[in-house]
Amino acid sequence: MNYQKVLEEIQEEIQPYLKKGKVADYIPALANVKKNDFAMSIIDLDLNEYHVGSSQKEFSIQSISKVFTFTLALQNYSKELYKRVGHEPSGNAFNSLIQLEYENGIPRNPFINAGAVVTTDSLLSIYKETTFDYILQFIRSISDNKKITFDKDVYTSELKHGYRNLALVNMMKSFNNIENLTSSVIETYFKQCSIKMSTAELSKAMLFLANHGVNPINDEVLINEQKAKRINSLMLTCGHYDASGDFAYRVGLPGKSGVGGGIVAVVPKKLAICVYAPRLNKQGNSLAGTKALELFTSKTGLSIF
Ligand code: GLU
Repeated sequence: MNYQKVLEEIQEEIQPYLKKGKVADYIPALANVKKNDFAMSIIDLDLNEYHVGSSQKEFSIQSISKVFTFTLALQNYSKELYKRVGHEPSGNAFNSLIQLEYENGIPRNPFINAGAVVTTDSLLSIYKETTFDYILQFIRSISDNKKITFDKDVYTSELKHGYRNLALVNMMKSFNNIENLTSSVIETYFKQCSIKMSTAELSKAMLFLANHGVNPINDEVLINEQKAKRINSLMLTCGHYDASGDFAYRVGLPGKSGVGGGIVAVVPKKLAICVYAPRLNKQGNSLAGTKALELFTSKTGLSIF
């Protein structure tokens, strides 16, 4: 299939959607972006790459980082992790407090904020003060780029305005579902969210999930097949907060969004994709990015259904 041609068609058809939606500004530093920007990258299991738009420009990966930290947690834990974080869609906003209280501080899944915070806490219990470096090294290794780092302005901005995430971590601490200092947990979580990557780098970093957990760049087994399946299933059912059903209905691929405007998705056994368009829909997912992925699966027939 001529993926380059498909991407170029999408880039043309997506233009009217790039002006719709709103850039996230509840983390003020996130609003400092070119609002109508667009980029899309594909990499297949033979490592052929296809790109359109500003595909080498780095942006804030935000909640896409949750896929990487959950992978690291599953490298270390099995069933015991699911006692602390569930695997059901939440049907609620990404940073909702309500459900967390009546479900006794056990987040519904690892891809809402509370669940990702528990995941990061589980890593802190093992890697202590080296946790963020460990996360960063993992991301550098799977994207084959040693230069990837985090954006200090975004990090500081998140710390300064992160009252709701602090509320989530404190609530979970009150239910004994946080093992480490709340300050260390929230700082590590905000740092992982502030990592900046391009669509080219993110698509490469996701490739192991299209390949049963094996990194096709160096044949390293990053996670066993069973666990890779679970990560993909969770992306399909929970990767887009309370719009996860809508994303699955329209796109038909496991995917994960971030409020920075990125979305990653995988076509199992074939390829990984990343799209970037910073204006978001009401549920906090890239509006044009979702449409672009919908166009991709409609044009290529490459959905999982
Ligand atoms: N750092 C963001 C927050 O915790 C991540 C949210 C997202 O990307 O959906 O609010």
